[in-house]
Amino acid sequence: MREVVRFINKYDPGKFPEDFSYPDVIQMGSNENPYGPSEAVRKAYMESLDMIARYPKADYHELKEAISSYIKFPVECIAVGCGASELIQAVCNIIIEELDRVVIPMPSYTLYAIYAMLRSASISFPVFERYDIDADRIAEENPKLVFLCSPNNPTGNCINEKVIRGVIESSEYVVLDEAYTEFSGESHVELVKDYENLIVLRSFSKYFGLAGMRIGYAVCSTDLADAIEKVRLPFAISYPAAKTAIAAINSRDYYETVRMKIVSERDRLYHELKKIEWLKPYPSEANFILVKVEGEKDIVERLGEKGIIVRDAGIMGLDGTHIRITVGRKEENNRLLKVLRELE
Ligand SMILES: *Cc1c(COP(=O)(O)O)cnc(C)c1O
Repeated sequence: MREVVRFINKYDPGKFPEDFSYPDVIQMGSNENPYGPSEAVRKAYMESLDMIARYPKADYHELKEAISSYIKFPVECIAVGCGASELIQAVCNIIIEELDRVVIPMPSYTLYAIYAMLRSASISFPVFERYDIDADRIAEENPKLVFLCSPNNPTGNCINEKVIRGVIESSEYVVLDEAYTEFSGESHVELVKDYENLIVLRSFSKYFGLAGMRIGYAVCSTDLADAIEKVRLPFAISYPAAKTAIAAINSRDYYETVRMKIVSERDRLYHELKKIEWLKPYPSEANFILVKVEGEKDIVERLGEKGIIVRDAGIMGLDGTHIRITVGRKEENNRLLKVLRELE
């Protein structure tokens, strides 16, 4: 086995309701969409059943056409994969040579490091308080590849466009992970038209609520999109997954309604959390809220005992105890708030 594999920490997928022995566990740990699929998505999934004995058509042209109409970008600039996760891996595979400098500003998503390590990159993890990125500091590293995330997981804030441009202009390649962009209302995908070295990653797991179907896409130059398509798994997206993704794009009214509910609940939850003295929530533009917990050390376990799953956000760049709470449905958020208030 390669030595590097021993140094890689396993990706932490968090806890699942099945891990608990009682019913009514609420999942607020994985940033999923708490609302079910649209009627059209349900129907597309059911109708695709008869096709599961067949391989999906590997060019995914119909899916790319739908994505193209959604983001208003040409099909040639789109590559698809088994979740944005596979695209993170694909980008590492097409760009990183041994000992290339990869910069992963922290605190951020932990998956970037796993695939960069597998390419034997030389990785640096500059810490920016509250993920307030300083483009000049990144430029000093002379990076081959930088991973930016906006809105960032787990801090929830966006990077402003001037900073993104600054990083792109001083790096050979930049990945901008926009898995949560719909919740912020400000995508920077248009920058792909200005910069050939930018790869924007998107996902169907969050806004479109298809985490279990595994669909993601990259938007970038035709050259990079072709390269990604070459190295990803040949049939990365199942037929039902591709069909449901297309149906989701065609159910925009439904998902917009859901988004508005989540955004208004997020803002309400933030203000209610703020009133709890020992909690310090960060403002968020995503569908989750990062919260600093003062004093209370085993909060994740104590919420678990009450049937509420939140994510322990103990990662590099976050000192002290932090938890990340996914915005749920109104009644779920109320149950969480009630339990938190009683923990005082
Ligand atoms: C959830 C998430 C992804 C990707 O999810 P997929 O389910 O693989 O599409 C990518 N980046 C960040 C920051 C995420 O939180």
